[in-house]
Amino acid sequence: MANFICPVCSQPLNIKEKSYICKNRHSFDISAKGYVNLLPANKKHSAAPGDDKLMVVARNNFLSLGYYSHLKETIENLCDKYSDKNVSVLDCGCGEGYYTQGVYEKLTQQGKNAEIKGIDISKDAVAIAAKRLKEGQFAVASSFHLPIQNNSVNVLINCFSPLCLKEFGRVLKKGGVFLYVVPAPKHLWQLKEALYEKPYENPLKEEQYEGFELIETVKAEREIFIDNNTDINNLFKMTPYVYRSPKEAQEVLLKAENLTVNAHFIVYVYKKK
Ligand SMILES: [Zn+2]
Repeated sequence: MANFICPVCSQPLNIKEKSYICKNRHSFDISAKGYVNLLPANKKHSAAPGDDKLMVVARNNFLSLGYYSHLKETIENLCDKYSDKNVSVLDCGCGEGYYTQGVYEKLTQQGKNAEIKGIDISKDAVAIAAKRLKEGQFAVASSFHLPIQNNSVNVLINCFSPLCLKEFGRVLKKGGVFLYVVPAPKHLWQLKEALYEKPYENPLKEEQYEGFELIETVKAEREIFIDNNTDINNLFKMTPYVYRSPKEAQEVLLKAENLTVNAHFIVYVYKKK
């Protein structure tokens, strides 16, 4: 079991009725939407940290249509490969729970007893995740201060979210793994070509980190064809280019009726020594 821990005193939290409560009686209500907020007020940098609601809705709509299902399957298969019959999974930066749900369903289909948790700094995203996967436990929390017990997680998923090696090392069991999912060099290449005169490839990083061993590198690549303007807009809103690409090019792209684009990812598997 990988219990949530109290953000005030770090003691394990247990569910009592509609709250999580620690032995020092710090109590955190489970919201009507099914998640708990374990982000201490002093760790918030704004009233509503993380991805904003429009971005969350755009991403949820886009992912739910299956454009990145090849990545979901890759993550599911790796979680299965690196877990035993009883497995504790933490999706760190779970967003709307698209990948979290896939992993839970895969592990359950394989006859495993999967206990799955997801955390994200965005309350709007976590609310969708909790609704999507009732069997999971979801908390609003920071990857830099994981509300999770030491040495309790078998498989940790880190999909396009901050790499917090110190915290990953703390919560993973010895021999446990984390999946580090990053965009490959040519990910969204055609979209970048539409936005920039001189697009750059994403840098390829294949690094060793202290306390971990890189044991596998898996590519999840396919070209997707988007045949409508709504989905192109949603994809664009998921990217950082919203903030830093020329406005005129954005306008042209956002009026396009179709787009063929690379959905290229790399998953690095690191094992805790
Ligand atoms: Zn406490």
